Amino acid sequence: MSGRRYPEAVDVAIVGSGPTGAAYARVLSEQAPGLSIAMFEVGPIVSDPPGAHVKNIGDPAERARAQVASEGPGERGEKVASPGAAKAGVRGARPGTFLLEEGYVFDGEDGLPVVAMSSNVGGMAAHWTGACPWPNESERIAFLPDMDELLAEGERLLGVTRNAFDAAPFGEIVRERLSAAVDDGRTEATKVQRMPLAVHRRDDGRLVWSGSDVVLGDVTRENPDFALFDQSLATSVVLADGRAAGVVVRDLGSGEQHEIAARVVVVAADALRTPQLLWASGVRPAALGRYLNDQAQVVFASRLRDVAPLGDDAPTTGLAEYSGVSWVPFTDDMPFHGQIMQLDASPIALADDDPVVPGSIVGLGLFCAKDLRADDRVEFDDAHIDGYGMPAPRIHYTLTARDREVIERARAEITRLAEAVGDPVGDRPFTLPLGSSLHYQGSTRMGTVDDGTSVCDTDSQVWGVPGLFVAGNGVIPTATACNPTLTSVALAVRGARAVVASLA
Ligand SMILES: Cc1cc2nc3c(=O)[nH]c(=O)nc-3n(C[C@H](O)[C@H](O)[C@H](O)COP(=O)(O)OP(=O)(O)OC[C@H]3O[C@@H](n4cnc5c(N)ncnc54)[C@H](O)[C@@H]3O)c2cc1C
Repeated sequence: MSGRRYPEAVDVAIVGSGPTGAAYARVLSEQAPGLSIAMFEVGPIVSDPPGAHVKNIGDPAERARAQVASEGPGERGEKVASPGAAKAGVRGARPGTFLLEEGYVFDGEDGLPVVAMSSNVGGMAAHWTGACPWPNESERIAFLPDMDELLAEGERLLGVTRNAFDAAPFGEIVRERLSAAVDDGRTEATKVQRMPLAVHRRDDGRLVWSGSDVVLGDVTRENPDFALFDQSLATSVVLADGRAAGVVVRDLGSGEQHEIAARVVVVAADALRTPQLLWASGVRPAALGRYLNDQAQVVFASRLRDVAPLGDDAPTTGLAEYSGVSWVPFTDDMPFHGQIMQLDASPIALADDDPVVPGSIVGLGLFCAKDLRADDRVEFDDAHIDGYGMPAPRIHYTLTARDREVIERARAEITRLAEAVGDPVGDRPFTLPLGSSLHYQGSTRMGTVDDGTSVCDTDSQVWGVPGLFVAGNGVIPTATACNPTLTSVALAVRGARAVVASLA
């Protein structure tokens, strides 16, 4: 699928190979065979099929190489294995991701010290956890009447299941204890439940985590009119007569620039680099980069009380094989999203004379919805360049008094939940450095009217630039606390259908 010979012209050029760019390619391949599609990705292919999750790579050394190859153009920074391992003040990136080297915080602001990206075919979804919850209450995009159908379609594209960990011996115990603490007065949709996950179990029992490979599917891979070009940096969108007319791409191998004409351009280059490419192309609507929001994250651990040691047939490896992944949904009254899963399967020695039942330590994480502000933004500095030579991102980001109050409530709530499932490990929860969520939204947000508070319309087409579409978490206009990828893939489905209609 990869090659250095770029086409002169295509129907649709897609920038970025994460799950949202892949969703465009998939819907177009299914609904409009015959349209030519070129996908440009700045990072390399690191897995097989291209875009596959690196967790599916069995050999640890090969997996580590795939992670390192995804970590962008700069210095390789310190890595943290899990959010719980992050220490205050230490800027550590998760494997497969890299951080901004500068411009992530300014005087008098909170900044996003660990805002991260991935550069590889498959984007962050070659490294993700695969949690695909549905948004609830104010997380939902009220002006989209077809949201449920789009989310269901997003689940199909991402290969979401709910039963992969039904055999996990402690899963039901965790959920029963959480339910007893939380469910009273909640609707069915917001009660404690299994987390929908982009993973399936093969017949031989092996887990296969979904990445962009699953979103692309065979229909895209076998589409003779689809081509993927890795190590290809889109440096600008070409405009002609006020509409999108192509992309300029730099082949990172040869350094040569190529202009590829396109009838439609989709920019799916993550919540920092999608606005970056628009900025670099002179497309600068007032809301570009604004309303940036991250989900502040609070974590804690708890040791399950009263669980019997497991028999010899108990799982020996594998995150989540003991207690699965459980979900405490967001509500407007409790504006946090809970993800509860086993901590790393490696045994944690609490004390020599106190053996821990393997798998009985669960990690609890609460993500908080941000108080949205236009001033929270990513700007671009034409006088400075990033590691790829693009205008350098500058993050201006501040928590409001309401944000701080919500984080304090989340700390109290996670303590209550940790006590409900077992005995908390440690004396207090930990608030992660801002940016840890890896869920950055709002920077190319969707709206119903072009009033300066949004970048694109409800089909993800940029206001005033026909033929230019944006995709990714940046398009989400609401302050979600839940993991956003299912929602942004759902929005990509809507956009892709609009592209099909416009090119028919
Ligand atoms: C460890 C980890 C755990 C996560 N867990 C979850 C989870 O459980 N649930 C969830 O919903 N989300 C999770 N996420 C976040 C999730 O992976 C992202 O929301 C998702 O991948 C976003 O998809 P995307 O297509 O918008 O962007 P990305 O996946 O970020 O892909 C964008 C791609 O565009 C490329 N690109 C950027 N600029 C250019 C350019 N100028 N030219 C060419 N290519 C370019 C990038 O290299 C990248 O490959 C997690 C992420 C990580 C790293």
